[in-house]
Amino acid sequence: MLLESALAYARHGIPVLPVHTPAADGSCSCGRPDCARPGKHPRLRHGLTEASTDPRRIELWWERWPDANVGLRTGIVMDVADVDSPGGWHGLRQLLGGAVPPGPQVRTGGGGWHFWFAPLGHGNRVHLLPGLDWRGTGGYVIAPPSRHAHGTSYYWVVRPGDPPAAPALLRNLIAGPDAPSVTAGPVSPAVIVHPDRYAAVALEAETARVAHAPVGARNDTLNRAAFALGRLVGSGLLDAATVTRELTAAARWAGLGRTETIRTIRSGLSAGERQPLDPGRRNVA
Ligand SMILES: [Zn+2]
Repeated sequence: MLLESALAYARHGIPVLPVHTPAADGSCSCGRPDCARPGKHPRLRHGLTEASTDPRRIELWWERWPDANVGLRTGIVMDVADVDSPGGWHGLRQLLGGAVPPGPQVRTGGGGWHFWFAPLGHGNRVHLLPGLDWRGTGGYVIAPPSRHAHGTSYYWVVRPGDPPAAPALLRNLIAGPDAPSVTAGPVSPAVIVHPDRYAAVALEAETARVAHAPVGARNDTLNRAAFALGRLVGSGLLDAATVTRELTAAARWAGLGRTETIRTIRSGLSAGERQPLDPGRRNVA
């Protein structure tokens, strides 16, 4: 079963690697009593770099370890949004406007979800949102029908097929604070089909970006977010009090001081408000 699945993934071009297996009591086949990642780390000495699509190598691995969990290298056929809690699932749905695009979907044995997307070319990202990581170039995920240390197996909710493109707001979050913001800079008015939803998702994405900004980029990230959201305030799609409240909470979460936070939000917001997204053009085309 595990070997057949591993061979099937490899036939679809996904490099496979044998991973350790959790026992019924949650311990790991590596034998270390203090193993931090039972059933989740590679059995091969060189780990991920040895992942392969060669059926002969794969058969030899599972001949040696018939119950090895199946690891799949990400960044080649697919990237994976790795959701490890209900909070992460709600955050991802909210970011994407209420629904995750239909595509391959896994329930992990630990109560989480894996959503497959077309590769973006970025590496792994940790804590994109609370409970949401991204597995990209140089990463891997555990795949069905592997066993989880909690005693259940990974299984397919939606079978593997062509992974969908990651939505723009998710791509933007993954690209990080240096990427052009979806709301700052020129925006094609024609893309704003549902202005209220667009504004709500922009608010969510910008505050998440601020909350998770790296230390050296926090104030700049806050300034850009305030400017971007200020443009939506200027066009009447968001109100200034809500934006100020949400950005302040995110900035405090990121560790920015109160005085700096207030000043940056105020100046970014008013600069953005002077350049509103033109609401009259948003239904064009
Ligand atoms: Zn282990």
